[in-house]
Formats: sequence, structure tokens, C-alpha cells
Amino acid sequence: MARIDIPLVVERLRAAAGGGDGFTPLHAPRFAGAEWTYLKDCLDTGWVSSVGAYVDRFERDLAAAFGARRAVATVNGTAALHVALLLAGVRPGDEALIPALTFVATANAVRYCGAVPHFVDSEWATLGLDPDALDAWLSEIAERRAGGPVNRRTGRRIAAVAPMHAFGHPARIDRLLAVAADWEIPVVEDAAESLGSLLDGRPLGARGLVGATSFNGNKIVTTGGGGAILTDDDALADRARHLTTTAKQPHPWAFVHDETGFNYRLPNVNAALGCAQLEQLPAMLADKRRLAARYLAAFAGVAGARVFAEPQGARSNYWLNALVLDDPADRDPLLAATNAAGLMTRPAWTLMPDLPMHGDCPAAPLSVARDIAARLVNIPSSAVLGAERAA
Ligand SMILES: *Cc1c(COP(=O)(O)O)cnc(C)c1O
Repeated sequence: MARIDIPLVVERLRAAAGGGDGFTPLHAPRFAGAEWTYLKDCLDTGWVSSVGAYVDRFERDLAAAFGARRAVATVNGTAALHVALLLAGVRPGDEALIPALTFVATANAVRYCGAVPHFVDSEWATLGLDPDALDAWLSEIAERRAGGPVNRRTGRRIAAVAPMHAFGHPARIDRLLAVAADWEIPVVEDAAESLGSLLDGRPLGARGLVGATSFNGNKIVTTGGGGAILTDDDALADRARHLTTTAKQPHPWAFVHDETGFNYRLPNVNAALGCAQLEQLPAMLADKRRLAARYLAAFAGVAGARVFAEPQGARSNYWLNALVLDDPADRDPLLAATNAAGLMTRPAWTLMPDLPMHGDCPAAPLSVARDIAARLVNIPSSAVLGAERAA
């Protein structure tokens, strides 16, 4: 099997990324719009905290960007996922199906509900949860009951499935929704990485019952820290708002909280950043897609490595570009050489069941997720690298 020519890969990466000889991060934010103006407005008016005009505007802009009726802004994406799972009905002692190949927040959010993550395999075509593997696994281990299927092996109810659009590439969400509907399992869409991505011409995030997204510093659009719950269901959105604002009932002066809520509301200063960032989403997407095209061209003739291209029917935001290696033995030498050369690269996430706190959770066969993790390397993907260059 052809091992890759590492100096050649480093050279191609450097040329396509165009970051020069200095350090090139995996993903740097870009503040090229009205950020300073909107932040100054917050400070000048004193509206810095969890109430303010920018929060309302950010939520309206987000709903439009995600094709959702409603968006409820939160302090981060993990908090949004936590509340989204609660809204889907995940309770202590339940299980929630999630990809083994995801960022740890997906699994942690299930734990915050007192539930147990249950890991399912991914597919190479999308890098996301494999709907056919999900269906086959449910047929093997689940028993249909009123109130939702039960895992025959553990006796626990399977309360939700949370697919994720890995590195911005859309999973086969409509097929996943069909499988989940057949099994009567609500879908919580983890759209933390997929702002601006389209599948069959439509955005992702609110196709299931409820979705969640993130505006962490490394995401395509950032509020410093932030997130949002997405849904087409007004009652769920109202409940999300209530839960994220300490479950306080509206009242002119009294503190009446009607359940144990959360202090998960996004502050106005963060929302101000988000409004300015969202205005630049089209430019961000254009630059990121231009960078992906450069990478695809640069590696077209390189033996042993290819650039992951958007799935069929999808228009990806290419949040993080990825090299896929033929030989897993090439991965760590490539990671070492690129990082030593100032090109920041990272392996895919450690599979959730390989982490100590999630090691005892139920899991389907994970051969594809293991193969992806063994052969995928994320490469520098900041929007600025995709900016148009002088000829
Ligand atoms: C970033 C991310 C999250 C969590 O977002 P935070 O804002 O960092 O809490 C959740 N899921 C996935 C897949 C992510 O990439």
C-alpha cells in the first residue's frame, strides 16, 4: 500500500492554505464587519446582560439562517443541546442514541439529563450517523412499546436520537427522520457545525423536533461563547425560553419560578457580536468553499490522501476541511510533521466509548466510525485562507 509522501503533503497544504511560513491555526475567527459598532452600542447603552435588543434580533436572524420558525439563544451549544434533549423528553434512566464519532458535548448533554448515551455507527458518505445502521441496530436491540422503544438488553427507554452534521457536512437527515419516525423516537439535531450548510437546497437544524447549534470561538460564526435551540414548534420554543431563563414567570416585581430552570440565556454583548457575524455569513461561506476547492484541486493527484468532498445533494459550509488517508499508519506521522511545520492539524475526535466516563455505555458495532477516526485529519480551515488572491 502506498504510504503518503509527507513533505509533498505539507507543501500542498501550505500552498493551498497560503498562510505563509508562520503558524496557521485550524480555525480562526474573523471580525470584519460591524462587531465594534454593535459592541460599543451595548456598552454605551448599558444593555450588556441577558436582556437586550441584540438578543431579540440575533434570535430572529438565526431562525432565518437555520430555516426554523424559532431560535432561542443560549450561553453555549452544550447548554442548547441539554435543553433540546429535555424538550424531546429525555429523562433520568433513559437512553439517547448518538454517533460515537462526535464532539464530547453531544454525549455530555445526554448525561446532564441523567440519561445514558448509546453509540451508533457513522457512514463514510457523510461522516454522520448512518441511518441504515441505526435501523438495523434498533431492529436487533429494541422492542416497540407504548411511550417509545425499549432497549431489550438494558431495559431502558430509548428517548431520543441526536444525529450531528460532522465538520459541516450534512448527514442524511431525512432518512434518519424516517427511521426515527418509524421507531417513534424524537430527533434532536446537533447542528453545531453546520450553519450555512444546505441539503437539497434547505438549511439544517430544525428538521427534527428540535435542534441545537453553537457559536463557540472555533465555529463558522462566533459570539465568543454561545448557542441556540432551534425549532418550528412555538410551544417548544416558549418552553425553551422559560427553561433557559430560570423558569421565571413574568411578573412586574415578584420572583416566581415554577420549576428548576437554568441560567442559560445568552448575554446581549455576545448577541451583538453574533448579529455582526451573521451579516458576514455569505462572505464566510464563499471564502470557505473557495478554500475547499483549492484543497480539492491541490490533492487531486496526491497518492494515499484525498480531501473529503461534500456529500451528494449537499452544499456544505466546509467548516473544517479534512484529509482522508488510505493508510491509518500515515495519520500520526502526518499530524506530527504538519504541526511541527506550523500547520495546525488534528485527528477526528476520540470515539465517545473510548473516553473513560462514557466507556460503559451501550454501543452498536462501530467499524466505520473507527475507520473514519483512524484515517481522517482536519486541516487549516479559517475563512481568511479562502479569501480571493491577487492573480
Ligand atoms: C461545538 C460543538 C458543540 C458544543 O458547543 P459549545 O458551544 O462549545 O458548548 C456540540 N456539538 C458539536 C458537534 C460541536 O461541534
